[in-house]
Amino acid sequence: MTGITPEVRALVRPSAAALEPYDPAFSPVEVILSANENNYGIPPEVAPVLAKAVTEAAWNRYPVPLGGELRNQLAAWHGVAPEQVIVGNGGDELLFNFFLAFGGAGHALVSCPPTFSVYGLYASMVETPVVEVPREKDFAPNVDALIEAARTATLVVVTSPNNPTGDLFPREGVRRDPGSTVEDMLGEYQNLAVLHTFSKAFALAGARVGYVLASPAVVAALAAVRQPYSVSVLDQAAALAAVTHRDAFQPAIQAIRQDRSRLSNMLGGLAPLGVRVWPSQANFLCVRVPHAHEVWCRLRDEHSILVRDFSSTPGLEDCLRITVGKPEENDLVVAALTSILKGE
Ligand SMILES: *Cc1c(COP(=O)(O)O)cnc(C)c1O
Repeated sequence: MTGITPEVRALVRPSAAALEPYDPAFSPVEVILSANENNYGIPPEVAPVLAKAVTEAAWNRYPVPLGGELRNQLAAWHGVAPEQVIVGNGGDELLFNFFLAFGGAGHALVSCPPTFSVYGLYASMVETPVVEVPREKDFAPNVDALIEAARTATLVVVTSPNNPTGDLFPREGVRRDPGSTVEDMLGEYQNLAVLHTFSKAFALAGARVGYVLASPAVVAALAAVRQPYSVSVLDQAAALAAVTHRDAFQPAIQAIRQDRSRLSNMLGGLAPLGVRVWPSQANFLCVRVPHAHEVWCRLRDEHSILVRDFSSTPGLEDCLRITVGKPEENDLVVAALTSILKGE
């Protein structure tokens, strides 16, 4: 890709002047375990329903901005009012909308690195100061420091499971309460918002649909800054088909869960070769391997396996993130890692 020339960069808004185009570090390979996608895809019994829904959608009409029927179905599923749901062009658009609505100079974001990279990016794009509360040993969030920092912030993002480390954020970090989900607190806290995506469990990363559950007031603030037609009729139709057939996605989700523990055990077995794997509640594992960047290159070039390289991220030195794929894909990545680390 052509870079940003100095002449053009001089015209870019100051908060974006240092940015470069996003690079997903994708290369064509046989085994893709790099982006936490669902390698099972749409369940075979849902695929024709989804195709029909997309075909029959009103392509010539603008979409319903807030996703009429999709919104209603999401609300019914989560037991909230439709006014508490807002859909977006992937979770990423909604995250950006949070910064458009609530960020900016004097509206600090609190974030817990290492975590998902887009929070800092979006914050900087709209001049939002960032207060970082780094994770402690084994990536545990420092809840006391977080609560302290949150007092002066407008936005606090806690990721659960965290990406790329895989651990759940403790519910007691949101309110002093044991457990891991916080959705039942939505009715209680006007300022709590929960972001979901269709990209992982629902295997629709290519469609770009996500949603936020929050109070009607927060949803209205997000609706005020969004691009009205950002979720196409095609995406709405696809997501609606997925939600109304959500039970059909369970077998693949269960298979991924099971294989997460199998993959984790296999990687744990490579400890004598210097491999460390952290527990994960997500569809990926964070692993530390000696010379991670070189290992990442060799997985790609010699074994046609793509994982994600986090080795240059502070706090994630020598770490790779491996998406849990199908059993045969997970076997391949373990075999390849073993061979590379044994110096074969
Ligand atoms: C996947 C993911 C998202 C959202 O992805 P979209 O494809 O934009 O919906 C957001 N946050 C985290 C932590 C994720 O892992």
